[in-house]
Amino acid sequence: MKDAVLPLLEQVYGQPIGILQAIPQSGGSINHALRLDLENGESVFLKHHPNPPGDFFRKEAAGLRLLAGAAQGFRVPEPLALDTHHLLLEFIEEIPAGRPFYPAFARALARLHGTTQAHHGLDHDNYIGEIPQINTQEKDGLVFFRDHRLGYQQRLARESGKIPIALDRKIDRLRDRLIDHLGPVAEPPALLHGDLWSGNYFATTGQTPCIFDPAVYFGAREADLAMTELFGRLPQAFYDAYNEAYPLLPGYEERKPLYNLYHLLNHLNLFGGSYLASVASVVDAYTR
Ligand code: ADP
Repeated sequence: MKDAVLPLLEQVYGQPIGILQAIPQSGGSINHALRLDLENGESVFLKHHPNPPGDFFRKEAAGLRLLAGAAQGFRVPEPLALDTHHLLLEFIEEIPAGRPFYPAFARALARLHGTTQAHHGLDHDNYIGEIPQINTQEKDGLVFFRDHRLGYQQRLARESGKIPIALDRKIDRLRDRLIDHLGPVAEPPALLHGDLWSGNYFATTGQTPCIFDPAVYFGAREADLAMTELFGRLPQAFYDAYNEAYPLLPGYEERKPLYNLYHLLNHLNLFGGSYLASVASVVDAYTR
């Protein structure tokens, strides 16, 4: 690892810099992560993947830069250097989240969601976890979500034998009639973090929210909100402050499980069997 990282550090500092210690960081789900304490007194955050899909870290760096350019009220780690197997980021210190963190996070997210464009998608594909995320731009948010979010993950699961035929057919039916459940996607496509589970944000100095490890695209902002509720929920103060800053449209509660079905299918594709029951239960609820 060290031999590969020293040239990256030299790129960053313009001269060779030694590593005093490398401290493993927990909390990630895909990569190895380390804090590197350097002989110049600084620390940097290193992500390492032994066998990443081709341009994995380049896409992560692009996503971080896109967020940093648009986000007000967030800290977003700056990408410092990368190669195929490594990404060096600015190290940001996590502190325990206190009460001011949640409304600050909500307001910053609402502001991020105020950044919009005409089409759903993005000018390039990226990754969700290590699975490709297809961002082909579409005018119609329902078509985008049906085909490039649900449809793509469904196809991966089908091709790798992770879903039984009966469930696969039910997902076809759900996608055919998605308009009945999701309705037309009425709001302008918003810049999303894209993978907003609790492992991808924390509080830093001054209770400022920090976001990282994104799967950015322009889409329905309800999808970001839904993801914060998938594996446990943020405190109610977060949702109250978000709604005050940028009220959600009526019907969000009914659409929420559909937006999260994308993440459940992705988790099924990433981690396998245990997510099958969760996928089936959402699909069953909409195809009875
Ligand atoms: P993975 O891609 O494997 O999910 P993450 O990017 O989520 O990895 O990073 C793993 C953990 O490391 C995070 O949950 C967070 O606690 C911490 N972390 C991520 N980025 C930084 C950073 N730039 N500075 C400090 N800690 C970070």
